[in-house]
Amino acid sequence: MKSRKLLMIPGPIEFEPKVLQALGAPTTSHVAPNFIESFGNCIALMRKVWLAPTGQPFVVAGTGTFAMDMAAANLIEPNDNVLVISTGYFGERFAEIAKRYGANVTILASKVGDIVSLDDIEKALSTKKYKLLTITHVDTSTGVLVNPKPIAELAKKHHTLSILDGVCSVAGEEIRQEEWGIDVVLTASQKAVGVPPGLALLVVSQKALEVFNNRKTPVGNYYADFNNWLPIMKAYESRQASYFGTPPVNLIAALEVSLLQIVAEGMDNRFLRHQKIASAFREAMMALGLKLLPVHKNLSANTLTAVYFPKNTTGSIFLSHIGKNDVILAGGLLPSHKTKYFRVGHMGSVNNNDIIATIAAIESALSASKFPFEIGIGLKTALKILND
Ligand code: PMP
Repeated sequence: MKSRKLLMIPGPIEFEPKVLQALGAPTTSHVAPNFIESFGNCIALMRKVWLAPTGQPFVVAGTGTFAMDMAAANLIEPNDNVLVISTGYFGERFAEIAKRYGANVTILASKVGDIVSLDDIEKALSTKKYKLLTITHVDTSTGVLVNPKPIAELAKKHHTLSILDGVCSVAGEEIRQEEWGIDVVLTASQKAVGVPPGLALLVVSQKALEVFNNRKTPVGNYYADFNNWLPIMKAYESRQASYFGTPPVNLIAALEVSLLQIVAEGMDNRFLRHQKIASAFREAMMALGLKLLPVHKNLSANTLTAVYFPKNTTGSIFLSHIGKNDVILAGGLLPSHKTKYFRVGHMGSVNNNDIIATIAAIESALSASKFPFEIGIGLKTALKILND
């Protein structure tokens, strides 16, 4: 198909045909037996994908920002101390959200492309009692990957709840919510979960629900209130219909299809596939002589890669060359560096062919920009890793 373009941005991503078919199927009633079954299944499947057998899933119409808002609205009360560990744009956003609910927010921000050290986190947790901390697993603005496991351990030690913004990581990066003791892991449908935009997805630990149940003040956001959504999740899970707000019927049907595919692949296989494809792409970029935005390749995410534009090129022209080769990539997002780098999403059902096509399009754009490099070296480097 001549008009077909490969969408390789960090969300929305390319979706599986069966997921899109579910989205395009006739819309049923939200109390129809087939929909009740799909919704109930989604809740059980989320526990498997999040690796959180006793967690409480929430499926609500909204975007990733709403998932962040929902976590904050329910777990923060005015004057609570909140520690935000920020590696970029979305860390800053979490701080803004927490402030809206009256939190005293402390931000521990990394340098661009770097992470916050565990020592600094431990120091902060030792000097003040924090009700909760937030971690951005993969900040989509920088492509930096944070290891949430030791941070969640520190949080537990200091009796602080941990919230993981997994919008750019759930179902792509390794997350073992229950084993690692993370209280909330949230995401949105349009990234590695593999469903078009429109669903906010959260899994909340029993401990966090207990903290919620002991609130002294009402939740300051009617739509986000767990009190409104918890009975709905429990009803559908026990295969009964219930109503608070009309569920996005087709998106939830599509979610069931995608979660079934994810579980069929197996979480360990899925994590490994993302790691291998990301490694092939990163090594290819470096072999071409391009520089990654993360200060060390070990800090680079497996769901997306942020790469500096080659010197002396105009980013928009470079990206339009890639577009002419039928691959769509994203520009920068971090305000201070916006025009200096581009981002490539490689998550969800991404396969070896997609990444090879993307590297080929980048090589073509480099040639067109008269950038000095050995043509084919990126492809060769990637193939070596992919074929291993
Ligand atoms: N957090 C992260 C890490 C993200 O990447 C995004 C979206 N790019 C969001 C939050 C916000 O999600 P949404 O755009 O769906 O509101």
